[in-house]
Amino acid sequence: MTKTPPKQQGAARNLDPQDWDAFRDEAHRALDAIIDNIRGLRDGPVWRPASSEARAFFRREAPREGQALTRTLQEFERYVAPFSMGNRHPMFMGWVQGAGSPTGMVAEMLAAGLNANCGGRNHIGLDVERQIARWMARAFGFPEDASGIFVTGASMANFLALLVARHHATQQLNVRLNGLGALKTTLVAYASRDVHNCVRQAMELSGLGARHMRLIASDERRAMRVGDLAHAIAADRAAGLQPFLIVGSAGTVDTGAIDDLDALADLAREEDVWFHVDGAFGALAALSEKLRPLLKGLERADSIAFDFHKWLHVPYDAGFVLVRDPQAHLDAFKSDAAYLTRAPRGLAAGEIWPCDLGPDLSRGFRALKTWFAIQTFGVDLLGECIERTCRLAKKLEGMIEASADFSMRAPVTLNIVCFGVTQDPEGALASEIVMALHESGEAAPSLTIFDGTPAIRAAIVNHRTTEEDIDRFMGLLNGELARARQRLAAADAKARAPQPREAPRGPGRTPLSQD
Ligand SMILES: *Cc1c(COP(=O)(O)O)cnc(C)c1O
Repeated sequence: MTKTPPKQQGAARNLDPQDWDAFRDEAHRALDAIIDNIRGLRDGPVWRPASSEARAFFRREAPREGQALTRTLQEFERYVAPFSMGNRHPMFMGWVQGAGSPTGMVAEMLAAGLNANCGGRNHIGLDVERQIARWMARAFGFPEDASGIFVTGASMANFLALLVARHHATQQLNVRLNGLGALKTTLVAYASRDVHNCVRQAMELSGLGARHMRLIASDERRAMRVGDLAHAIAADRAAGLQPFLIVGSAGTVDTGAIDDLDALADLAREEDVWFHVDGAFGALAALSEKLRPLLKGLERADSIAFDFHKWLHVPYDAGFVLVRDPQAHLDAFKSDAAYLTRAPRGLAAGEIWPCDLGPDLSRGFRALKTWFAIQTFGVDLLGECIERTCRLAKKLEGMIEASADFSMRAPVTLNIVCFGVTQDPEGALASEIVMALHESGEAAPSLTIFDGTPAIRAAIVNHRTTEEDIDRFMGLLNGELARARQRLAAADAKARAPQPREAPRGPGRTPLSQD
């Protein structure tokens, strides 16, 4: 006798459950399990490497025959959930990453339930997205009719803004139609040397070339030197080039530094160039009345790129680009393909669709989870969580300054603390501490490089991180430093002892990597 259930006679199988009640039970169990997982995450490690069993599991062939949902859920529990990124954990301080929220998770599930395609057409998803654009326009001091769309992240948002700026600067030449060959001169963009690499990449992707991105020196607070910027623009004009874009940073990724946005806006106006702000996470400081003054001048930008998935903890991914002049935004992307024709009535009615404002046609309902977050938590609580992370960063800065073993490498402007080990000219101890912390599962700061030397970087983004966590983090740093010193000393002694054969030491290998 066969064990497979008899195929339904006549009825073609589709992808809906064959037994809805059983499915409902499974789905509820899955939801319960992930809620427990989030609730208990503080008790688990920040991160653990994926087991070889799990890695092997994902090298299998695609199954011809499916299996019960229960079984797939068990595989998720076993091979996926334990080996995730760790950015939800309160001791995660690596890079600048959002922690998500249970509310955001529910919204994401509901969005998947609706499965709306938010590229265009006449449905409520577009209204939700426009509402977010209006809310953020107000938060940043932009005009109400500013134009904006969701994209994957700030990398894409910066890229789109650069394309809008490029189109704006070259309208008569119609580069969209004629290509870059139509340009009579070379377009040049400017940003501080601390700008995120995605801006340089946007120059590459746009065809303008990273060579034509001028990286301007920054001052001791790591904000762009506006005098140097003015000189660079003058020099390029004198050489017959065409400055078209100044990119200000509101919260650099390395240190959280904020450029003098007001001064950049003044200069951009004088020079008649586009003023874009990369505010990936920092622009969201506008939600806190206390922090908002740091962003003075943001309201004068021509465009802003930012993320809801970082400091607002909307589940990945949720980037956004906001453009002051809606016509400029539309002109850079709108096309008139026949299948995108607007009808006077019905599902194809409407005027401007998101597909007119960027390269994506099919796109998910990112607006829903963002709206859920803002609607449910409210702007005040979101601003409070942002403020708290800045307070915790100041606290950690104070502890580092008070410590003989560690010293600050950059000033704290917002929520990022960069520091090193005091006697560690090559950064070997700093690197060792960070890797050991990751492996211990106790905390996850990240590494960055300052003037060629690794530094420890604690980006405190998480709404779950507390004062006690910062105290604990300092204790962990001290413990790992002592252990790293012992390991280095042992490795050193071993290296000095007579050895049968010298192990090769390639560039980039720290002495410790030989252990
Ligand atoms: C994170 C970040 C980016 C890139 O954003 P993604 O959402 O990761 O694409 C760009 N600029 C800054 C300042 C950032 O912090």
